Amino acid sequence: MYNDVIKEMEKYAEENSVPIMQKRSMTFLCKFIKKNNIKRILEIGTAIGYSAINMALVDENIEIVSIERDQDKYIEAIKNIKKCNLDKRISLILGDALNLELEGKYDMIFIDAAKGQYLNFFNKYKENLVDDGFVISDNIEFHGHVENYDKIENRNLRQLVGKLIKYIEFLKENDEYETKFYKVGDGLAITYKKGEVDE
Ligand code: SAH
Ligand code: MG
Repeated sequence: MYNDVIKEMEKYAEENSVPIMQKRSMTFLCKFIKKNNIKRILEIGTAIGYSAINMALVDENIEIVSIERDQDKYIEAIKNIKKCNLDKRISLILGDALNLELEGKYDMIFIDAAKGQYLNFFNKYKENLVDDGFVISDNIEFHGHVENYDKIENRNLRQLVGKLIKYIEFLKENDEYETKFYKVGDGLAITYKKGEVDE
């Protein structure tokens, strides 16, 4: 049953240009969640619920709160989550993640929304992370744009990629947090507090 819904979502995403997570990074992330026994997840950027559903299916004790600002996508996500009977474990919030205040702590925060806001998302939600938790950032390579920044001619794109590069530098030079970068899918960063996580 899940497989059919997931396949339908992949087709829908393709036809409607919804930037859902790439298959290889999705698998990588699910393995990471299992290996680290992650149970409470905050996702920023639900889109149609594809990554939330995949993450929830890793273990039946996983609970996810996911934020989406686009109403049409939010409605689509609700439908998909219901189809999978996961509405008790995945709670959706309709709104801009930068204008919300969330209580509670999460084992993992998955940042997968507006690329120019990653640093703001990080700073806003780091207080909602348990001490030995992880922040995962998707699309850290941004389809090769990060590597080819100098060749970008479009001003808006340049500005956007510039912000993503600043975020990457922030992660690399951080005294408090350690980050590992993975060349999987569109690039993933995994960040955790120094001294809190056994490697
Ligand atoms: N995680 C999803 C894909 C998310 S695509 C998956 O892999 O299945 C990015 C989504 O983030 C878009 O749907 C966009 O509307 C949403 N988004 C962008 N900026 C946001 C913000 N500030 N607050 C909430 N949602 C945001
Ligand atoms: Mg993504």
